[in-house]
Amino acid sequence: MFYAVIKQVLQLVVLAFVGGLIGNEFGHFWIGFSLALLIEAISKSYYFHHVYAWLKEGAHGSKPFANNFWSALTGQVAKITTKLRMENDLLKSNVEYFKESFQALNDAVVVIDDNGIIDWANSSAERLLGIYLEQDAGQLFSHLIRAPEVINYLDQADYTSPISIISPTSLECRLEIQVTRFRKSYTLLFARDITDLYKLETMRRDFVANVSHELRTPLTVISGYLETLRDHSDNLPPVWLRAIDQMLNQSARMDEMVDDLIWLSRLEALPSDDKEFECFSLQVLLQSIINDVELSFPTKVVSLSFESSYISDIKLNFDASVKLRSNFLELQSAFANLVQNAAKYTSDDGKIDIKCSILTNKLHVCFSDNGIGIDSKHLNRLTERFYRVDDSRTSGTGGTGLGLAIVKHILARHQAELIIDSELGKGSQFTCVFPLTLLEQ
Ligand code: ADP
Repeated sequence: MFYAVIKQVLQLVVLAFVGGLIGNEFGHFWIGFSLALLIEAISKSYYFHHVYAWLKEGAHGSKPFANNFWSALTGQVAKITTKLRMENDLLKSNVEYFKESFQALNDAVVVIDDNGIIDWANSSAERLLGIYLEQDAGQLFSHLIRAPEVINYLDQADYTSPISIISPTSLECRLEIQVTRFRKSYTLLFARDITDLYKLETMRRDFVANVSHELRTPLTVISGYLETLRDHSDNLPPVWLRAIDQMLNQSARMDEMVDDLIWLSRLEALPSDDKEFECFSLQVLLQSIINDVELSFPTKVVSLSFESSYISDIKLNFDASVKLRSNFLELQSAFANLVQNAAKYTSDDGKIDIKCSILTNKLHVCFSDNGIGIDSKHLNRLTERFYRVDDSRTSGTGGTGLGLAIVKHILARHQAELIIDSELGKGSQFTCVFPLTLLEQ
């Protein structure tokens, strides 16, 4: 390009002087000189006009002029536009590729912009959500999907767990909604048809609840007769006595299991936003549980403490006067399970500490014991139904294997979590971590 410019300047100078010399022959050097410059200016305007028209057309087709300064210029422009065009084509084909993949999905996909307006939706969105791209693009999402659960879900900042709703297009269809954010403020909403899974889960829940209820009557009859037999067992041989005692033990265990299953089914059947919350003293609740445990396990030492904490040198007063706003019966059941476990799995002189404190903006209620502890390989699975560290342990203590599943379920209903820490032979720590919103101000 540099040489093309030098060449152009030289050409101009030579042309002007040739014009001047010709003019000089007629005694008018400067007129010849100026005429030559004028002719060059007209020819440049002509070139410029053609290059401009070519650029305006998007630099398509063959570039104008083959071998002069303009050729070098248009050559560069043609190179850049060809590169840009190729990049643009690639980008377009990538966008098409992703759109086609989303289009092929059975799940509904909706792209919502930062103002809550629908930007794009695939064809499954018509079937599952009733959103038609052609007519609904540019509309507010909240005007089309009126389910408050979805609107609340979109408004919150945490999308780690999906929500389940009834499809706006069919009452028979159940959807799982999952949202992710991209480009800071854009929302990608996925809706998956989980009707079959939901029916299966409902069937499982109903089955467990029905069987548990049905088992209750025969169990009561069996226990009743066994107790009568036990009361009139004076003339029975010892081997029969042992058998009756064992049968009574096992029927009591089955009774407990049926109670736990019914309680778990009831918890599962409650809607997740069922907030039958009442205000009560945490200390009174824990003390009543301790009193019950001390009656069943008189040799165990149970202590309860409330710890104030410091946040940036500011003392957060936290003591026995603290009140909670939550479901009393559910928390009573969860805490009682943990204290009873601590009592069951410690030796006769076992120590159980219950400590309430505020740490990292959460309410911690920690149940620790100096009992037999749990091998770390079991910790992840402890809250599964019927999971037992080892059956011999449980048959000795009469557990059902449902206690921690119930605790986990209750905590989840309070937006809380259970943290388990344990070392074999040294003891265990079960910490319930609640959001501070549960504290009554
Ligand atoms: P279970 O009714 O059998 O106690 P849970 O669901 O309450 O059922 O507990 C599951 C298993 O976790 C128990 O079988 C027991 O092995 C273990 N476990 C629970 N709490 C403790 C504890 N404090 N110390 C030692 N092991 C425990």
